[in-house]
Amino acid sequence: GVPPRQLPDPADHCNLSGLESLAIDDVTGFVNIGERTNVAGSAKFARLIREKDYETALDIARGQVENGAQIIDINVDDAMLDAEHEMVTFLNLVASEPDISRVPVMVDSSKLAVIIAGLKCIQGKGVVNSISLKEGEEIFTAHARQIMRFGAAVVVMAFDIDGQADGYQRMIDICTRSYKILTERVGFPATDIIFDPNVFPIATGIREHDNFSVDFLEAARLIKETLPHALVSGGVSNMSFSFRGNNPVREAMHAVFLYHAVAAGMDLGIVNAGQLAVYAEIPEDLRERVEDVVLNRREDATERLLEVAGGVKGQAKADGEDLSWRQGSVAERLSHALVKGVGEYIVEDVEEARQAASRPVEVIEGPLMDGMNVVGDLFGSGKMFLPQVVKSARVMKQAVAHLQPFIEAEKEEGGPGGAKGGGAKGRILMATVKGDVHDIGKNIVTVVLQCNNFHVIDAGVMAPYAKIIAAAQEEKADIVGLSGLITPSLEEMATVASEMERTGLSAPLLIGGATTSKVHTAVKIAPNYSGTTVHVADASRAVGVVASLLSATQKADFAAAVEAEQETLRQSYAKRPQRKSRPLDAARQAGDAIDWRDYVPPRPKFLGVEVFDNYDLEELAAYIDWTPFFRAWEMKGAYPAILGDGKEGEAARALFKDAEAMLARMVSENWLTARGVIGFFRANAIGDDVYLYADGNRLQGLAVIPFLRQQMEKREGRANLCLADFIAPRKTKLDDYIGAFAVTPGHGVKERAAAFEKDNDDYNAILLKALADRLAEAFAERMHERVRMEFWGYARGENLTNAELIKESYRGIRPAPGYPACPDHSGKADLFELLEAQANAAMVLTENMAMEPAASVSGYYFAHPEARYFGLGKIGRDQVKDYAKRRGVSLKEAEKWLAPNLGYDVKN
Ligand code: SAH
Repeated sequence: GVPPRQLPDPADHCNLSGLESLAIDDVTGFVNIGERTNVAGSAKFARLIREKDYETALDIARGQVENGAQIIDINVDDAMLDAEHEMVTFLNLVASEPDISRVPVMVDSSKLAVIIAGLKCIQGKGVVNSISLKEGEEIFTAHARQIMRFGAAVVVMAFDIDGQADGYQRMIDICTRSYKILTERVGFPATDIIFDPNVFPIATGIREHDNFSVDFLEAARLIKETLPHALVSGGVSNMSFSFRGNNPVREAMHAVFLYHAVAAGMDLGIVNAGQLAVYAEIPEDLRERVEDVVLNRREDATERLLEVAGGVKGQAKADGEDLSWRQGSVAERLSHALVKGVGEYIVEDVEEARQAASRPVEVIEGPLMDGMNVVGDLFGSGKMFLPQVVKSARVMKQAVAHLQPFIEAEKEEGGPGGAKGGGAKGRILMATVKGDVHDIGKNIVTVVLQCNNFHVIDAGVMAPYAKIIAAAQEEKADIVGLSGLITPSLEEMATVASEMERTGLSAPLLIGGATTSKVHTAVKIAPNYSGTTVHVADASRAVGVVASLLSATQKADFAAAVEAEQETLRQSYAKRPQRKSRPLDAARQAGDAIDWRDYVPPRPKFLGVEVFDNYDLEELAAYIDWTPFFRAWEMKGAYPAILGDGKEGEAARALFKDAEAMLARMVSENWLTARGVIGFFRANAIGDDVYLYADGNRLQGLAVIPFLRQQMEKREGRANLCLADFIAPRKTKLDDYIGAFAVTPGHGVKERAAAFEKDNDDYNAILLKALADRLAEAFAERMHERVRMEFWGYARGENLTNAELIKESYRGIRPAPGYPACPDHSGKADLFELLEAQANAAMVLTENMAMEPAASVSGYYFAHPEARYFGLGKIGRDQVKDYAKRRGVSLKEAEKWLAPNLGYDVKN
């Protein structure tokens, strides 16, 4: 009764792809094609291919992509090379490098055989560079037909049997004729035709060459107007050929050319990705002279460009790094260093500024704060991203560290030296609450606030309320900020608020961390405290909130607005529609009825525990899921697409590069020790409990793991799930099993991070912790894979890519206490006892069930093919009572652990 799917219309724009797709349409903007993997254009690449140093050659390709190339051009045409063989070899290597092959490939050769060999290697939809009417229509159509069979797009050069089109009219004539043949005779999709009308060198001293760029621009404009859907491309570096050896001038020429060509309709260009200057940033005098040449505006344009070319050349370092900013005033240099996060010259520049200032503190209050204000504004307006800001803060701290001794010395001499933070806009006490060890978020907020000239006092992790309150009083904190990751920390924050009230504090209270929310803050925390209590969703909000709270003029309005919003939230929370729930008995009746009759539980290779000490970090690194890494830095895109993102891409690539470099050192220099333990136990379910046996006998001590069951009303046929459903019930008489694991790569993180922090290097401290968290998840992923393939062995032939592992396309689950199916964090105590995690892996639990080291993961293994993740949802008092009994704790204690899941109000 359902009509068949409507076939979509073919796209009316060019769609290319590597591992990821690349649409070239009206909104794409200019697409850069990396040129460095071309033996004709890069002597280095040519030598590497000749010497068969493919690894390094791949680095060049990777560098192009990292620097923003959206397509890579690959050309191995060289008299000394077997181009067909080299093309195949190199493309096959590219295919196994996802960070390169995510972009489409442009197979570049003058020989059709090489092109075809290349097309056979590339995945997705690439581009051929190039075909033309050079050898007449027959060959042109034959080549086009072959290429069309591979579905590739094609670059058509403006050539015919008379040679290359070296002027506007011939460019147009040849392109138009090629277009007609391709679309009318060959049936080539117009969206896959890319014209290169020829970019020729200008400013060569030969009069006939002067108008080449103008011809190109005019031709591009006309092609876009008259040949529907066709695209325009060109090899940009060619135009500046007569200035080889002078990169600054060449880059300026490219930038000016592109500025006009893109305006004329040029869609793509072969460029040295990463070496593109920005039109607006070219010094005015140079830009004008370049523009005269490109637009052929005056007879003496070439001479005038030559006049200034020598001077421009001197400013660039040999490796192309632009050091022209070093020419600015000391204030400009400091601002540049802060905004770009460049620490190389900061001490030198700060020292110069200090000598010029009458007092050292003026350097902080003057140019450094000005620079940080720029950073703050850019971050606030979304033009800078967190990793860049944290890098800026590192430069700031290095600068302050250099000035500190001078400020101290001045004080000792009885001078009016500003105390540390003396000129700050306010004093903020930050703490991760008792029982919690996660401080990435807190440290990020700290850095961001410091950047904005707030003085932050850090009370560290696992801070009990007494310590927080004492520090707030002693330090005369204007604001107190609480952070936490796990749900028990929510309760702890409520306690801190009550205690602040009891001791008569009035400083505003900030609440932040992954499990915190506006609603929770309004309903559970704010009512405990008469001071203003504000939920801060992420670091980028912190500055605005803090500034409002400390502003004499805004504070009252801001506090009133927060209070009013919280009142509304509380009211709607009180009136929230209750999802219908079932009594526990009825929910149990509706449990997941797995048919156990034909099921043979696989038997693990061993029972009891096995310990993994000093696990190979390199092996784990390959299992990292990078998307959450970027999230830790408050960057929202998914990996790897985020690296090519128009907005976040640049910051993401720089961060990723730093992460990969640090990861390589972590592995090769053994920064961390990874330890883990897994175990398998005979098990059967009785009701919602899983009973463990040791060789048929009840285990000593811990023998029962109680699980929780969903109680929400469900549609007919939908089960009220409980993890115990996935273990064979005792009455089936089946020998079933449950597994457990606790893994950490985190031994050594604390010490390393502290060393970075001591060096004023918060950037690397946070980077290290974020990477350790990633390795912990990767460890869990890898261990789970080995469990399926070796230790439990029920999926021996499994062969999944990392992306498939991340999508969990395998049999079995590894639910973790504190997550939705089993939200009681105290389940970790069972696991740790069962696995003897402290003795076996030096992992411990805090009183609120956070794992130490912080980068740790623990959970259960379920092998049944129907085992799946679910969310427990709200549960009734009947189940909480029953669960408390099964767990052997008081109702009150059970309610504390299950607070976020209680479907009823607890009466105190
Ligand atoms: N690739 C991710 C993996 C961690 S999140 C990363 O690197 O961060 C996925 C894990 O969370 C699962 O393997 C499981 O241990 C846990 N999990 C997810 N949903 C769950 C649920 N509903 N109940 C219990 N545990 C869950």
